[in-house]
Amino acid sequence: MSVKSEARPVAPPAVAPDVEAIIVGAGFGGIRALYELRQMGLSVKAFEAGSDVGGAWYWNRYPGARTDTEAWAYCYSFSKELQDEWDWPERMPSWEHVVAYQRYVVDRFDLRRHIQFNTRIKSVVYDEATGLWTVTPEQGEPLTCSYYVSAAGLLTVAYEPPFPGLSTFKGQWYQTSRWPKEPVDFTGKRVAIVGSGSTAVQVLPVVAQTAAHVSMFQRTPNYVLPGRNHPLDDAQRKGIKANYDAVWEMVRKQVFAFPMEKANRLFDNFTPEEHERIFDAGWEAGGFRFVFETFDDITSNERANAAAAEYVRRKIRAIVKDPKTADLLSPRYPFAVKRPPLGNFYYEAFNRPNVSLVDVSHDPIEAITAKGIRTGSEEHEFDIIIFALGFDAVTGALTHMDVRGKGGVSVKEKWEAGARTQLGITIDGFPNLFMLSGPQTPFANIPPVLEAAVTWIGQAIGKVRDSGQRSIEPTPEAVEAWTRLMQTLLDQTLLGRGAEVGTWFLGANIPGKARCVLFYFGGAEAYFNELNTSIERGFPGFALSP
Ligand code: NAP
Repeated sequence: MSVKSEARPVAPPAVAPDVEAIIVGAGFGGIRALYELRQMGLSVKAFEAGSDVGGAWYWNRYPGARTDTEAWAYCYSFSKELQDEWDWPERMPSWEHVVAYQRYVVDRFDLRRHIQFNTRIKSVVYDEATGLWTVTPEQGEPLTCSYYVSAAGLLTVAYEPPFPGLSTFKGQWYQTSRWPKEPVDFTGKRVAIVGSGSTAVQVLPVVAQTAAHVSMFQRTPNYVLPGRNHPLDDAQRKGIKANYDAVWEMVRKQVFAFPMEKANRLFDNFTPEEHERIFDAGWEAGGFRFVFETFDDITSNERANAAAAEYVRRKIRAIVKDPKTADLLSPRYPFAVKRPPLGNFYYEAFNRPNVSLVDVSHDPIEAITAKGIRTGSEEHEFDIIIFALGFDAVTGALTHMDVRGKGGVSVKEKWEAGARTQLGITIDGFPNLFMLSGPQTPFANIPPVLEAAVTWIGQAIGKVRDSGQRSIEPTPEAVEAWTRLMQTLLDQTLLGRGAEVGTWFLGANIPGKARCVLFYFGGAEAYFNELNTSIERGFPGFALSP
């Protein structure tokens, strides 16, 4: 496939846009896009619902929030000066440090003046007559633009507590994804945490330090890997800075864009003793090194996967003293078909006298009452309830906003049966609309994927301008092919089994949500190659229009 229209200069638009590009969201993606488009000389305006930059990190300021990715690759690579100037204090930065970094970037590159904070966008509508997008905030005047960049994030729309009776609860309740700026005092309080995903796993050990008692309501256990966060000393920081080119080279080649080497080991080529030794090393190294530095076929070979699963279960039994609790915490489904959380003394927290596990797998939560939580069999009393129920992930940010393309068709309607995109960045029928962290991009370390997508977007806009055209849009055939590829790639792994346990990367965590493959599972390197090839070949599968 090739670009359909001929490059032919056209007259300037009959209606000039208020601003050439609008970006919604000022997290990692929005900031990077703002920088790129300003470098290209475009007039750009960014809108952000929060009062500061941060994106997901602005909202998810819950106790214990920290990255699951090593600091030196959870950041931008576009500026050597930035790399040299910024110091990460810890291996896995806390949310404060991530937001401080983003603040530093917007000020360092003078981007803040282009961002309007405290502004939530309610609709984004394409006008076929003018070829412009009209972006309307909840409060304030609409603004038109030629290029619209959605950088509203993949974990933005919270799964609201679906339990009846919440308004009758006499205590305090919080959602982790909308945590208040003021500290919450747990001292002496009876606290419930509902959920046992990556977020809840981070909250529990921190809240347990001061609360009188914490009860975690778990429906499905997870394979929690030790994070092994630690402070970085001067020598470590210097070492990272001196080797940054090698770090990014590693990131570009690693399947999840992490700063890790390939294991270069297939499970079946090793003896059981060697398996144990290799898993031990991965477990001790901490974080996702257990997944990526042990065996390269851990998510595709049933035997490797089963051995990893059993290894984690053995660790749980070794750490958690109460055998019944250890058993309830032990998953029985394949390893990594739900995104494994990283814990910081998570399993150890269950040995505290003030922590208990409430298994709601067969005794579901029926209601929130004035006093607490009622399951089918019992009422539990609490002073504070924390909901960590996850998100209408990846597609939610676009389907919860009124985004309409050609013919007045909304993204919500377009994706009713599942997300469909080209390269995870564009949608047919939505000219000049670009997504960051949209569906069908790699399930991987987010900043490097965003940077690659932003580069592609900049090149695509450059192509439109250089060729004297006004818009770029994928062909329906290209979208169909990309969407089919998502299933083909998933089928080469065991990850499709996640549908049985409600995994969010298949849309299976939200009742009524269309089930589809929300990510590109071909590996980050292959995706980066796809984007580079698309640019080099002049955007095959896209139509340029006057
Ligand atoms: P999540 O993984 O979707 O977990 C939501 C939890 O709520 C699950 O344990 C789920 O149980 C439970 N739940 C939902 N409805 C329930 C109900 N009716 N009754 C009882 N439990 C219910 O959400 P999350 O923990 O916010 O994490 C989402 C993603 O965000 C992660 O996978 C990760 O990618 C990202 N994240 C990253 C970091 C980091 O990098 N540091 C930290 C936090 C989150 P079921 O499993 O049974 O559905």
